[in-house]
Amino acid sequence: MLSDGEVQRVLVIVAHPDDVDFSAAGTIAGWTDAGIEVVYCLVTDGDAGGHDDAMRREDMAPLRRKEQTAAAACVGVSDLRFLGYPDGRVEATLGLRKDLARVIRQVRPDRVVCPSPERNYVRIGIGHPDHRAVGAAALDAIYPDARNPYAFPELRADEGLEAWTVREVWLPGGPALNHYVDITGTFDRKVAALRAHESQTGHMDGLEEFLRTRLAATAAAGGLPEGHLAEAFQVMDTA
Ligand SMILES: [Zn+2]
Repeated sequence: MLSDGEVQRVLVIVAHPDDVDFSAAGTIAGWTDAGIEVVYCLVTDGDAGGHDDAMRREDMAPLRRKEQTAAAACVGVSDLRFLGYPDGRVEATLGLRKDLARVIRQVRPDRVVCPSPERNYVRIGIGHPDHRAVGAAALDAIYPDARNPYAFPELRADEGLEAWTVREVWLPGGPALNHYVDITGTFDRKVAALRAHESQTGHMDGLEEFLRTRLAATAAAGGLPEGHLAEAFQVMDTA
């Protein structure tokens, strides 16, 4: 596994606004504190989200971009790329692979965080179809598309984007969790980031307690001392 000192840039690829904040915002706050540059790539604008039937649906996408931008600021991230795919209808197409390979070649990250392409049989929300599609397309974009100069050759010919090899992938909620990050010190910023998604979390009265309970259980599963909080990942060597 790479030490954080070997990492200059991290690219986080997610399906929806708020995914990164539920799964990894505490870890990301630690990375930006350490001087690592973090970029978010959001495949959809979360335009099928929200709880307020009175709200015009066409207002949802711009609202959620704004909320995600505010949430990112809570954990030191200011570079967000929105791909604008329709929420709830994402498929792992060649087009999405090319769009993600483009972002990978532009950002040139050492480490990528992306959803697992696997269905989760314990917590159904982890395996949302958009998450699985984005996870599958992201891993295909990491290998082989971004690193093979002859894959999507137009990226190089027309856009001047050279091949790039991502050295490590972190899957939050992956099927074989093998790394637990202690986020006790950044928990408050994770909560602030989640509260910034007002259209999604505004109705959750016990949000902080819910998170504290879940992240304490994650810490216990990772063997951390009592009273600590953690986020869990499956880390893959992709060099
Ligand atoms: Zn999601």
